[in-house]
Amino acid sequence: MTKTLIQEEKLMNFINGNWVNSSSNQFTEVKNPANLETLVQVPLSSEDDVNKAVQTAKEAQKEWALVPAPQRAEVLYRVGMLMKERKEDLSQILTMENGKVIEEARGEVQEGIDMAFYMAGEGRRLFGQTTPSELKDKFAMSVRAPVGVVGIITPWNFPIAIATWKSFPAIVAGNAVVWKPATETPLMAYELAKIFEESGLPKGVLNVVFGSGSKVGNTMVHHKDIRVISFTGSNDVGRTIAAKCGEQLKKVSLEMGGKNAVIVMDDADLSLATEGILWSAFGTSGQRCTACSRVIVHEDVKERLEERLLSEMEKLTIGNGLDETNKVGPIINKDGLEKIQNYIKIGQDEGAKLLAGGYVLNNGEYADGNYFAPTLFTDATPEMKIAQEEIFGPVVSLIPVKSFEEAIEVNNGVEYGLSSSVFTRDVNRVFAAQRDLDTGIVYVNAGTTGAEIHLPFGGTKGTGNGHRDSGVAALDVFTEWKAVYVDYSGKLQRAQIDVE
Ligand code: NDP
Repeated sequence: MTKTLIQEEKLMNFINGNWVNSSSNQFTEVKNPANLETLVQVPLSSEDDVNKAVQTAKEAQKEWALVPAPQRAEVLYRVGMLMKERKEDLSQILTMENGKVIEEARGEVQEGIDMAFYMAGEGRRLFGQTTPSELKDKFAMSVRAPVGVVGIITPWNFPIAIATWKSFPAIVAGNAVVWKPATETPLMAYELAKIFEESGLPKGVLNVVFGSGSKVGNTMVHHKDIRVISFTGSNDVGRTIAAKCGEQLKKVSLEMGGKNAVIVMDDADLSLATEGILWSAFGTSGQRCTACSRVIVHEDVKERLEERLLSEMEKLTIGNGLDETNKVGPIINKDGLEKIQNYIKIGQDEGAKLLAGGYVLNNGEYADGNYFAPTLFTDATPEMKIAQEEIFGPVVSLIPVKSFEEAIEVNNGVEYGLSSSVFTRDVNRVFAAQRDLDTGIVYVNAGTTGAEIHLPFGGTKGTGNGHRDSGVAALDVFTEWKAVYVDYSGKLQRAQIDVE
């Protein structure tokens, strides 16, 4: 019944403000991970389609950059309003294509709405600096200039939120966008492009090209007229993109994986910690870059925490995310299920103790979908693979420690640095933790997920390359700093030389 929300059988690319067929005329099916029903056919576009999108973006950007930023922002306000009006429909489509439960889908769409209004506000800020010149009768300032054509490549796990984190700051700053959404989740891209179309965005400022990473994504990365690539996805793909961009001296912003931990100290509120762990570990079926997949627990409270987690995990209802009573939805596809299952075997072979879950759910109501039972390991050690590598599924491992200092060391002993959390009532530990946890996001007495859009989002070490999505920091990758000097002395004044 909800499928009637999807009006198209076959999607088209959005280029120069028009819906156009891909020149390849090739498609692949998009399936609902909850029941494997086919939702839509998505084009597998060609290099030619990318070239057309970039050409049109290049032309459109010249005009768009001349529109005053507060007027550019008006478009984002309208986008935000339309998203708000359609929030429920968007959320249901999101649940169908991605699987996450409807409550979380609503949260994700809300994140996009928040970002629209926040970035629209930037249209009246986009602050640069004025600063005194060292010379008389001379004015000095710095301004943000758009980069030009921006290439955006997004993953399936937050198909609308991540797109808004990237496209909204890019557009308000005066750039034009070519966006390649993940092939698994094209419907959110289609809906967002339709909203942009209705909002009055000039033709060619936003272009959507559907297709594979190896063809469409790769062509974007190599296109000489795309001056910046903003990517969220896996580490392997991110590293490859960074290397290719490096060769071309192209700006690149990467947000990639995580191996996020919740630290539970001996003085923690265990009931609150249990809730925080459950929400962070099993929300979006663990398929969040900020998902909690390690719990670093003080040995004095380990057993009590295990008992609480097991008892609460039993209450988790698993199933189709459109059913409001379900708390955990499906895994995106069969490859994802296989990867998770493989890690269960690895964990057991490494000697971790499996306390709950660890299997694919494939009987009865689960037979047609991609479901995995929420899983709890205990007595893991920091160097085990299940405690080091990103699993991207509903699997969490308890690692016992003897002290706060050891907990911090274990937290930091992974290649990633996205999010971390500490449950404690000791104010000294709170401040030491926020200083010493080597992650881009730190939570105190909350799980590892729940970023707000006006703060920077991203990670240290192997999670990224130093850029941030969200917050005012998101503007950095989509703008160039330009220094402007205006000399009104009427004579040649030489810096560093004619200083009196
Ligand atoms: P992938 O890296 O496989 O894909 C991400 C995007 O990149 C997709 O659109 C994909 O296209 C595209 N892509 C794939 N290969 C290439 C290529 N050679 N050149 C250019 N583009 C390419 O990641 P997933 O989609 O599987 O997403 C899961 C990963 O994303 C996890 O590791 C997770 O941690 C990370 N992630 C990180 C976040 C963060 O902010 N730190 C947030 C969300 C996810 P297609 O799939 O259509 O072929």
